[in-house]
Amino acid sequence: MAVPRVWPRLHDAQRRVLFEVLVHGSQSRVALARRLGLSRTSLTRLARELVDLGLVEEGDVYVSKSRGRPPEMLHVRPHAAHLLGVKLTGNALYAVVSDLTGRVEEQRQLPLRSRDVADVVSLIGQVAAELFAGREVPAAVGVCLAGDVREEDGREFVDRSIFLGWDAVPLAELVSEATGLPAVTSNDVQALTAGHQWFGAGVKVRSMVVFGLGAGIGSGLVAADGLMTGAHGRPGKIGHAHVGGVGAPCQRGHHDCVHSFLTMPAIEVNAGVQPGDYPLVVERARAGEVRALRAFRHSAYALGVVVAQFVNVLDPEKVVITGEGTDMLDFAREEFDRALDDRLEDTSSESVVIDRQPFEFSHYARGAAVGALRSLF
Ligand SMILES: [Zn+2]
Repeated sequence: MAVPRVWPRLHDAQRRVLFEVLVHGSQSRVALARRLGLSRTSLTRLARELVDLGLVEEGDVYVSKSRGRPPEMLHVRPHAAHLLGVKLTGNALYAVVSDLTGRVEEQRQLPLRSRDVADVVSLIGQVAAELFAGREVPAAVGVCLAGDVREEDGREFVDRSIFLGWDAVPLAELVSEATGLPAVTSNDVQALTAGHQWFGAGVKVRSMVVFGLGAGIGSGLVAADGLMTGAHGRPGKIGHAHVGGVGAPCQRGHHDCVHSFLTMPAIEVNAGVQPGDYPLVVERARAGEVRALRAFRHSAYALGVVVAQFVNVLDPEKVVITGEGTDMLDFAREEFDRALDDRLEDTSSESVVIDRQPFEFSHYARGAAVGALRSLF
């Protein structure tokens, strides 16, 4: 079998077949033809082309014959491509290399030596060289970070990346130059959402909202099978919506917005601990300390308000909640449900499917790798 050394240029029908097998799993040619509305003859030809390109294999190679899978099954060849995904924070770089099926093979975490764009780009170049070494087809790089990604005349610019102090940075272009590969950039929660849509909590749904809770609050939206990117790369913002009460001041000076209660920094202030001492709030809440528990109750209520607004607007099949700061759901789930019941338009908290997903920082980097993979389609 011929194996490509670079990711091949695919035509539309080839991409549709590959996408189908990639996201919905190995399938027989008959099932694929039916799903895609193609004749069996066309499907046979397309399958042959994808096999020749080294992207797909026919037959039962990963499962023993005794399990009796029919021989005409099509499988993706996981090693037909590797993707690098990078998540940048204000002081660190998380990187993963994934195969074509989104499986993470290796990861790295490095401190940033500086926030200078050139330094960060050169670090990404180094990590790419290390993690791609010896891999068959390094295909693309995805980078995600807190901030907006704006597209203008086919170029991507990172705007308002507060933790890095970046604005109007053509990061994708710079990373592409440093790595010699196609590169894409995206907002970090959008990347997380992309990862869930293709290979995670969103595989079987056509609409969902993903909330990433941590230093800030971000959301990613999937509607009608598509990831919404917005007209300016900043959909799903709700941080300054009014909640009521009195909490930590946000950057705009509100004391009663979502940011005043929901983020980890707000929870720290509202619980009366030092900035960065979030684990202490968790510890105190576990011990039953009143102020810490109140901070989580308010945070849970604010989250309920936010989720209710998105459900009212989008009516999604599920709501995914993830991130480093989701403890309010352990300490005050009833407050979250109360806010949903308060603010949902035509329904009750029980009708909303909440899918709380485990989280580690590398999930953002994996989402960025999936973003890179998506760019190949
Ligand atoms: Zn605010």
